[in-house]
Amino acid sequence: MSVPVFQPTRPIAYGRQHITDDDVRAVVETLHSDYLTQGPKVAEFEEKFAAYMGARYAVAVSNGTAALHLCALALGVQPGQRVITTPITFAASANCVRYCGGEVHFADIDPATALIDLQQVRRLLESYPRGHFHGLIPVDFAGLPVNLEAARQLCDEFGLWMIEDSCHSPGGFFTDLQGREQRCGNGQFADLAIFSFHPVKHIATGEGGMITTNREDLYRELLKLRTHGITKDPAQMQRNDGGWYMEMQELGYNYRMPDMLCALGISQLTRADEGLARRRQLAARYDAAFADLPAVRPLACTPGHAYHLYVIQVPDRKGLYDFLRTREIFAQVHYIPVHTMPYYQGLGWQPGDFPLAEAYYAHCLSIPLFPSLTDDEQQYVIDCIREFVAG
Ligand SMILES: *Cc1c(COP(=O)(O)O)cnc(C)c1O
Repeated sequence: MSVPVFQPTRPIAYGRQHITDDDVRAVVETLHSDYLTQGPKVAEFEEKFAAYMGARYAVAVSNGTAALHLCALALGVQPGQRVITTPITFAASANCVRYCGGEVHFADIDPATALIDLQQVRRLLESYPRGHFHGLIPVDFAGLPVNLEAARQLCDEFGLWMIEDSCHSPGGFFTDLQGREQRCGNGQFADLAIFSFHPVKHIATGEGGMITTNREDLYRELLKLRTHGITKDPAQMQRNDGGWYMEMQELGYNYRMPDMLCALGISQLTRADEGLARRRQLAARYDAAFADLPAVRPLACTPGHAYHLYVIQVPDRKGLYDFLRTREIFAQVHYIPVHTMPYYQGLGWQPGDFPLAEAYYAHCLSIPLFPSLTDDEQQYVIDCIREFVAG
C-alpha cells in the first residue's frame, strides 16, 4: 500500500471558484463607476454571454433559481399544469414549477449517464392523453449535455415546451444528427436555457444567473418580469402620463444582477474556454487513473462534456466519503433524488418510485474537479481513493 507523500496545504473541496487580479480589478472599477445596478455592465455581460453560447438573447438575473422561476412564469406555468424533470438534479430544477403552482413529475435516469432517460419520458407521455403534460426540464447533469435534438422531437410530438437547465454545462455540446456540434444554451432546441454563477459553477460571481433564448417574445417577457413586471417602453404602454411614467403590467419580481457582479462575470467569461480545457484535462487524468480499478466506476464521458462534476460510483460510498474527509478531501454527493426529499414526499412521491435514480444515489460521489486543482493535489486525491479501494 502506497503512503501519499504529498500533504495538501488546503482542504480540497469538490469544486471552488478561481478569482484572478483581473477579476478583482473589474469589480473595483465598477464600484467606482456611476452604476452599481441597472447600468452598462449588465447589457455587456448579456451580449457577451449570448455570443459565447451562440444564442440570440440573454437575460442576467440574480441567481440560477430566479432564472428557473422567471422561465416557468414566462412559459405560463400555473396550477393544473404538469412538468417533467429528472430526480437527479438540484431541487431548484423542480421547485420552479411549484413556485407557479404547477405539478412536478419525474422520469427515471439512464444509469450510464445519470441523465433523464428520454425513453422513460416517452413512456410517461404515452400513458396519458395528449395535453396532460405541459413542459420538460432536462438537466445537463455533471456537465454532460442532454441530446436536445431528441428531446425537442419528443416535446414537439407531445406539445411540450422545454427549459434546459444548463447550470453544469457552459461550453458543453452534443452532436446532432447532421454531425454538428450544438452548444448548450444556444437556443436551437430548448425554448429557454438557464445558468448559475454560484461559486462552484464554471463562471463564479457569488450569486448570479443567466437565461438564454432565441425567442424574442420570451426575451421581452423575461426583461419585464425581472423588474417587477414594469415597462418603460412607450410602445408597450397602455397610456402615457409624462416623462416619469412607467407601467406595471403584471406581477414581476426584483431578480436583477448588479453591475459589479456582471463585471466579474464578463472578466471570468474571457477565461471560460481555458477553465473548460483544464476541467477536461483533469477528467481525462481521472479516467486513466481509475481505468484498472473495477471498484471505481466513472459516469460515461463524451467529447462535449463540460465536466462541472467528476462523479464516480463505488461499492462503499459512505466509507469512501468519510475516509476522504479524514484526508482533508471534501467530496460531495450529487444528488439526493429530489422525489425522496420530505417536501416532495409530502406531495405524494415515495422512495422506490425511481429505482435507477435511487440506485445511482446509493453509490455516487463527486470528487474534486475545478480549474485551479493542481496536478499534485489531483494525484493526492487519486492516491487516497486507490488506498481506500485497496482496503
Ligand atoms: C446551481 C444549480 C441551480 C441553482 O442555481 P443557484 O444560482 O444556486 O440558484 C439549478 N440547477 C442546477 C442543476 C444547479 O446546479
